[in-house]
Amino acid sequence: MFASNLNKRVFKNVCIIESNAKIGAKIKVSGGAKCNITNELVSEKNYLGDRSLVKDLLKDFSKNETLEFLNKNGVKPNLNPKIVKGTYFCKSSQDVIDMFTKLTSHIKKYLNTKVLDISYENDVFKIKTNNKTIEAKKVVVSSGGLSYASLGASSIAFDIAKKFGHTIEKLEPALVGFTVQKEQFWFKNLSGVSTYVNTYVDGKKFEGSFLFAHKGCSGPVILTSSLYWKKGKLAIDFLPKTDLSKLLKGNKKISSALPFAKRFTSEFLNSIDLKDKAVSELSTEEKEKLELLKYYEFSPAGNFGYTKAEVTKGGINTDEIQHNNFESKKQKNLYFIGECLNITGELGGFNFQVSFSEAIRCARNI
Ligand SMILES: Cc1cc2nc3c(=O)[nH]c(=O)nc-3n(C[C@H](O)[C@H](O)[C@H](O)COP(=O)(O)OP(=O)(O)OC[C@H]3O[C@@H](n4cnc5c(N)ncnc54)[C@H](O)[C@@H]3O)c2cc1C
Repeated sequence: MFASNLNKRVFKNVCIIESNAKIGAKIKVSGGAKCNITNELVSEKNYLGDRSLVKDLLKDFSKNETLEFLNKNGVKPNLNPKIVKGTYFCKSSQDVIDMFTKLTSHIKKYLNTKVLDISYENDVFKIKTNNKTIEAKKVVVSSGGLSYASLGASSIAFDIAKKFGHTIEKLEPALVGFTVQKEQFWFKNLSGVSTYVNTYVDGKKFEGSFLFAHKGCSGPVILTSSLYWKKGKLAIDFLPKTDLSKLLKGNKKISSALPFAKRFTSEFLNSIDLKDKAVSELSTEEKEKLELLKYYEFSPAGNFGYTKAEVTKGGINTDEIQHNNFESKKQKNLYFIGECLNITGELGGFNFQVSFSEAIRCARNI
């Protein structure tokens, strides 16, 4: 929780309150410790929530400005579109934390200090923590969502918002793997195997790496799909760039004709109750069964939950927040930014980008 400004003189009386012993715990683990910090192709279409607000935010503080800011401060992310198109990764996420540590060195930090409650009396906020009560004229709540409690996440932003009369749009784990029903238990036997697929979810199509997991399925394309999944069906094209009918010609066995790891083909054939045999011997009905490789529809049982979800979808209703500075419309001098708001991005650097855009707008206009 903090109030910040780039002008050091103005902010003698600003403090950061952080329950961890160090700042930036999520930055540290992000992007496999290389912090996927923004995305070349970012647009409001990569987000759930008020897209016109997101569009405006991205215009105000764009990915170019994020990159300029980072470059100016010695962090030089590189484009690395291997996993998700347009992604910028840093050499090490520690570089980003070091940058923020340096930039905030003049600001008083209360570390190991957990905010428990906030009240407002006589134009002053009383911030009750596990150590002491801190008084403040203005409070910016940027304590994130519910994901990864092991990194310090708590419900405090939502508790404060509710206390001051805000509406919280349904909170759910997102950017997370799916658990599966018994018809898909064959996924589990392939734990660790990955393959390139297309997914179809909520009228949208995504492409990327799909990972079979001990609990079901994961991987970048599934994490993004989870943002749009609403209890129901999801479909996978396991052969996104291939015409199946062309593969099913000739005399090869199915396992040789299909471009998959043998383990994958064997588990898949078991799951549809089909023996590995020469493709020339396949009946029309058996060929139809194999068509499932192009559109494998299933209903996930659920997801891996907040312990594994990269973000929390839903959050504080952004209609109840002033869009010019993120001040609450319900309580003056109280601000909310970051993941606690009902704006959630896909996998690929989108969540950091929008959090930066919000933080900058808040800091400039507070
Ligand atoms: C494993 C993982 C990998 C990710 N990788 C990426 C990535 O590569 N790119 C990307 O764009 N996004 C990534 N994300 C998402 C991204 O980290 C978040 O969307 C972003 O950090 C949200 O910023 P925030 O400031 O709102 O919240 P946070 O970064 O969560 O910061 C909130 C801070 O508030 C503190 N806090 C919470 N409750 C209290 C309390 N009661 N008292 C005091 N302090 C409190 C927390 O300790 C935390 O330090 C990843 C998330 C995870 C979990």
